[in-house]
Amino acid sequence: MDEDKINSEDNTDEEIVISEEERAYIRKMLEKLIDLGMAAVYGDEDDSEEFAVFDHEGRKDRCKAVCCSFVFALTKEEVEKGIVKWNPKRPYFIARDEDGYCPHLNRETLKCKIWDDRPLRCRKYDCRKDPNVWVDWEKGIINKDAFLHLPKKD
Ligand code: SF4
Repeated sequence: MDEDKINSEDNTDEEIVISEEERAYIRKMLEKLIDLGMAAVYGDEDDSEEFAVFDHEGRKDRCKAVCCSFVFALTKEEVEKGIVKWNPKRPYFIARDEDGYCPHLNRETLKCKIWDDRPLRCRKYDCRKDPNVWVDWEKGIINKDAFLHLPKKD
């Protein structure tokens, strides 16, 4: 069985090792959730939620904008506006490229190319509160599992 070592870009020396089988299982479960319409991982929109605006520039070397690889459903208004790309195989979930990331993400700067028109989910998502991304935001400790859903790089 091929094994793949994944080093997270955090402050610890620990590493996790997952097999190709485990990676395939994670991907399969994610696909299943999407098929069931349950992959809008952050739940229903909540109008009482504030937009998340905070300085995370200094963290991108660790998080690598992994939030821009998460899958979620667009709102009807966003689909009708026609700016945000959605996945034709799974309307109307946001599109993802082969590398697992959003087509609107600039891969070099890790900045959103449609910032002013980014989806509501992107505006409200606060990674500081998401243990799937940060084990400890204040200390800058990333969750080692945060990247497991992404396709393996050659
Ligand atoms: S639309 Fe922008 S902020 Fe939202 S996932 Fe894509 S690149 Fe990230």
